[in-house]
Amino acid sequence: MKYISTRGHPQKQSFSQVLLSGLAEDGGLMLPETLPKITDAELTAWRALPYHALAHAVLSKFVATDDIDSATLAGLTKATYTKEVFDTDEITPLRSIDGYAPGMQIQALSNGPTLAFKDMAMQLLGRLFEFELGRQNKTLNILGATSGDTGSAAEYAMRGRKGVNVFMLSPAGRMSAFQRAQMYSLQDANIHNIAVEGVFDDCQDIVKAVSNDLEFKRKHNIGTVNSINWGRISAQIVYYVRGYLAATTSNSQKVSFAVPSGNFGNILAGHIAREMGVPIDTLVLATNENNVLAEFFNTGVYRPRPSKKTFETSSPSMDISKASNFERFVFHLFNGDAERIASMWREVDQGRSFDVSQTPEFKGLRERFGIVAGTSTHADRLTTIREVYEKTGSLIDTHTADAVKVARTLVKPGVPMIALETALPVKFAETVKLAVGFEPPLSDAQQAMMALPQHVTQITPSVERVKAIVAAG
Ligand SMILES: *Cc1c(COP(=O)(O)O)cnc(C)c1O
Repeated sequence: MKYISTRGHPQKQSFSQVLLSGLAEDGGLMLPETLPKITDAELTAWRALPYHALAHAVLSKFVATDDIDSATLAGLTKATYTKEVFDTDEITPLRSIDGYAPGMQIQALSNGPTLAFKDMAMQLLGRLFEFELGRQNKTLNILGATSGDTGSAAEYAMRGRKGVNVFMLSPAGRMSAFQRAQMYSLQDANIHNIAVEGVFDDCQDIVKAVSNDLEFKRKHNIGTVNSINWGRISAQIVYYVRGYLAATTSNSQKVSFAVPSGNFGNILAGHIAREMGVPIDTLVLATNENNVLAEFFNTGVYRPRPSKKTFETSSPSMDISKASNFERFVFHLFNGDAERIASMWREVDQGRSFDVSQTPEFKGLRERFGIVAGTSTHADRLTTIREVYEKTGSLIDTHTADAVKVARTLVKPGVPMIALETALPVKFAETVKLAVGFEPPLSDAQQAMMALPQHVTQITPSVERVKAIVAAG
């Protein structure tokens, strides 16, 4: 199993190389040279597996045994996907919301330590990084910017891990009290929270400036764990397989998935699962008011927007107007034509759009890839959260509500529609209260977390200050 760049750079890489490197040398993203297949017999055998063993089976298709041996990979998945970390033995249990829309189910992906789906992949990534860095006898300084879920998922995955330090920038005073407590209460010596007096973009700009200082970057071995990380995508494929198996009893049945989308990381994993042969009928891509992806799938025009034109919404983890993983899907859409992708992304990287509406590939997209897209608004979220609660007793968060809303009219008789629960409602309590009239109650452990002392260094926006903090370790 080798990986190639979407923009045609001839150098091929192994899984463990792709794991630690960000972009390919030509600025493209890495993808498997050919997608592995899942046979009918494998799918049948996998029905009996616990989640961690299924994760091992799926990931084995993406990791050559002379890269990471099978027993090591099995040990890492077994240590990751436990009831202690994810709350249930099923890890991603399904629940029906039939009373809201017949055939609809929710797949819980948010019972990990930070109560959002990013834990599903990031928890494994923490162990993979520790293993790989240990083997290379290296230390990695992960530098990132967060407005919420990504930063906390990275910190909880990397805390206490050997060979990894995390320096996470967040906009001072702009995250919810819950999100602040989650990140800043961590006591681990390898976790460094830096609150920047500014907005998220100021944090992002500092990260870019530090990373563009190639000498500093090399000297301090700076890395990232952002959503283009292939290790994250591959770990996300597992829960699509699991969701399919849990909702069916025979491989002749199909299911559909509804996915709250921003950077196209989650649904990319669903797309790959479908290409590998998991019997998925439709992949429903749901956006909020930042509907760049819905516009593409409905018109063939991809028009990314600058961050100034990105709306702040009540499903904030989807407030993205340039989907970093989308290039990987378009590479498949155009049958691996790297030259074409390179020229399209030369436009995108200049802030321009592209229009493929008249190509046969776009015209055949829905039939070939099963992707259907729609948009949900603030008012839709409130109505959906309220109706799902009133009709089923189930409380969902704002991002999950976007998926449920868009998928509702797309359910086909006899095909379960599984909406992916990407966060728990307690993380977005204010909006949930607007919908149902009360805030989701905090558990005892969450209340205790809110009361813990917080560790954070507050700074004015300054590249030099951040470099000094990283250099001091
Ligand atoms: C990150 C995130 C998303 C968006 O996922 P992508 O992989 O960026 O499409 C949706 N909902 C929640 C709660 C998230 O944290």
